[in-house]
Amino acid sequence: MDIRLGFECNNACLFCAVGLERETISSKTTGQVKEDITEAKKLGIDQLDFTGGEPTIRKDIFEIISYAKSLGFPIIQMQSNGRMFSYKNFSDRLIKSGLTAIGFLFPSHKKQIYELLTQAKGSYGQVLKAFENIKDSDLHISTITVVNKYNFEDLPETTRFLAGLNNKFKNYFAEFNFIMPSGDAWKNKERLIPKITKTIPYIKKSLNISKKNNFELNIEGIPLCFLQGFEDNIVEFGMASDWQMRMGNGIVEDFNKRRLEKGRSKGPQCEECNLNNKCNGLYKGYELIHGFGELKPI
Ligand code: SF4
Repeated sequence: MDIRLGFECNNACLFCAVGLERETISSKTTGQVKEDITEAKKLGIDQLDFTGGEPTIRKDIFEIISYAKSLGFPIIQMQSNGRMFSYKNFSDRLIKSGLTAIGFLFPSHKKQIYELLTQAKGSYGQVLKAFENIKDSDLHISTITVVNKYNFEDLPETTRFLAGLNNKFKNYFAEFNFIMPSGDAWKNKERLIPKITKTIPYIKKSLNISKKNNFELNIEGIPLCFLQGFEDNIVEFGMASDWQMRMGNGIVEDFNKRRLEKGRSKGPQCEECNLNNKCNGLYKGYELIHGFGELKPI
């Protein structure tokens, strides 16, 4: 179950996919979050993922994680920009409360590009400090790099940097997510959204580097016709179909169906593709910028 705690954040990332939600959907109260957690327990769900916005800026975050731990969830995960984990006390206390996994935003291994993308001075140094603070823990760590015009040519070099993180952490994998054309990313589309075909040589090179360095690198938001031979690295192929999403004061009904209907698009040529039933297609909105011409039915 993905529990979206609210949409406030201490970064202002150029590629953030959150848009109107920030003004129209209020943050969950502590009581609402606890109700969601209790409901997840009743449903037999074993994995909680706290997302936002930025979960760590909530004053009640320790209480939320402790509550989840008290109900015995084996996986209690959070998606974070990592900045609050640069405070050792905060980091230790959250791990002690019961957090078992963190997905860190990691837009670039280059400070200048990282901070241009997060629009937060000092955020690069903070996330490096965060990595130091958690390196001896048993946490499952992942990094998420949003692929965009500013960072795609550096992806192989970024992957070499990530290989260093793999050596640092006990449990680690990396993810590259193609930029989703919504929210702030849509507002900044000319500056940010590359043609997928331009990024593919760099992504394939990165996948080969991760293989050589024995760590998992998965790709989200890029259809299989661009990545034949790397089927095992496509996030969408391994996605749970019973994933639940809780947001605002309710549940997003049929999340997986809505995710595909409202969030993805396919070209006319997809009708002829053998993978049409399996493939999620492009992120919706991409075709308005670069068209469907790059898709090659298999
Ligand atoms: S269904 Fe369309 S987007 Fe998916 S692999 Fe086939 S051609 Fe590519």
